[in-house]
Amino acid sequence: MDYLAIAAAAAALVAVALISLRLQRARRRFHSETEAWHRRCDVEVQQLRQQRDHLLDALGDAFLIIDSDRRIRFANAAARELFRGRELVGRTVFEAVFDQRLAAALTRCLETGEPVRQRVVLPQQASPRGAEETRGDNAWLIDAAPIEDPVGEGARTRVVIRDVTSEHQTEQVRKDFVANASHELRTPLAIINGYLENLIEDGLYENPQMSLRFLKVMRKHATRISRIIEDMLVISRLESGEAAALRIKPFPFQGCIHDVLERLESMIQAQQAEVGVEMPDPALTINGDRFYWTQVLFNLVENSLKQNPRPGLRIAIGCARDADTIRIWVADNGVGIPGSDLPFIFKRFYRVEKHHSQDEIPGTGLGLSIVKRAVEAHHGAIRVESTPGRETRFTIELPAAEPAPAVTVPPETPPSP
Ligand code: ADP
Repeated sequence: MDYLAIAAAAAALVAVALISLRLQRARRRFHSETEAWHRRCDVEVQQLRQQRDHLLDALGDAFLIIDSDRRIRFANAAARELFRGRELVGRTVFEAVFDQRLAAALTRCLETGEPVRQRVVLPQQASPRGAEETRGDNAWLIDAAPIEDPVGEGARTRVVIRDVTSEHQTEQVRKDFVANASHELRTPLAIINGYLENLIEDGLYENPQMSLRFLKVMRKHATRISRIIEDMLVISRLESGEAAALRIKPFPFQGCIHDVLERLESMIQAQQAEVGVEMPDPALTINGDRFYWTQVLFNLVENSLKQNPRPGLRIAIGCARDADTIRIWVADNGVGIPGSDLPFIFKRFYRVEKHHSQDEIPGTGLGLSIVKRAVEAHHGAIRVESTPGRETRFTIELPAAEPAPAVTVPPETPPSP
C-alpha cells in the first residue's frame, strides 16, 4: 500500500514537473512572440512614418508640424528647400525660421488653438528664401490649424506655407492697370467736359467758328478715349485666358507684312519714309494667329513712323528662320529710345517722357504692351536695342517648332446647309 502511495505521489510530482515545464515553454514562446510582434509593429510604424513623410515631401507647399513647446517636429522637403541652410527640426519656430510678420499668424494659432489663414506680404530682403529671392515683394499664405492627437503625442499644430507671390503680383498689376486706365481716361474726359461747359454754359455755341474749333478738339479727345478702350480690350483679351482662343494656323508672314504696309501706306508716303523688307525665304510661314501678328507688326512699324515724322526715316522689316528659331525684326534709324527708358518700354501706359511732351504724337502707351502680350501668347520673346539717332531694333524670337498654344480653338466650321 505504501509502495502504491509512493508511486502515485511520484507520478503526481512528475506530472507537476511536466506541467511547469510546459508552462515555462509557453511563457518563453509568449515572450518571444510578443517581442516579434513589437518588432513588427515598430517596423510598420516606421514604414507608415516613411510613407507619410514621403507623401508630405511630395507636397508643393512647405509643411511643418509644431508641438506644444513651439518646436518643429517635422518639416517636409518644400519647407527644407524654402528655409534652405537653416536647421528646422528640434528648434522653436522663432529660432529656426520666422520673420515677425510670418510668425504673427502662427503665434495666433498656437495661442488660441483656432485655425488661422493669413496672407503676409514681405519686402524682398525679408523673404524666407533669403538671397534666393529676386522677385521683389513676396507674398505667403500661412495656413495653421491644430491637429487631432490620437496617439497621445501631445498637442500638435500643422502649418502650410504657400508661395502666393505670383498671384499677388498679378493682382498688383491689375490694380495698377485700373488706376492708370482711369487716370488716362480722366484727362481727355475732363477736356471734353471743359469744352462742353464753355459751349453750353458760356453760350459759345452761338459762335459757329468757335463751336467748330471746340468740336474738333472734342473729337480728337473722344478718339483718344476710344483708342485707349480698344487697346485695353485687346490686352485684357490676351491676358484673361482668352489667349487660349488664339486661332493658330500657318500663314505666310509676307502677307502679314503686306497688309500692314497697305494700312500704313498714306503715313509712309506723307513722311517719305523708306521701308525695306528683308526675307531670305519669301515663302516663310508662321504658325500662329494672323490677327495678332498683324497687330504686332502694325504697332511696331507705326511706332517707327509716329516717333519720326521728319524726312530721312528708313525702316527695315524682316523675318528669317534657322533650325530652332524664327526671328522677326523691325528696325529704324530714328530718334530712338533713351537707355534709361528701355527697361520700362513694354509697361502699360509707359511713354518716353521726352517723346510724350511732343503732344501731337498720338498714342496710348499700350501699343508695346499689346505686342509683348501677343508675342508671349505665341511662346515667343521680344527685346529692344536702341542707339538714339542711329538704330532702334525690336527683335522677336519664336520657337521654330510648332508652338504649343494653351488651347487651340478649332477653325470656324462652315455653316451647315
Ligand atoms: P504709344 O501708344 O505711345 O506708341 P507704345 O507702347 O507703342 O505706346 O510705345 C511706348 C513708347 O515707346 C512710345 O510712346 C515711344 O516713346 C517709345 N517708342 C516705341 N517705339 C519707338 C521707336 N521705334 N522709336 C522711338 N521711340 C519708340
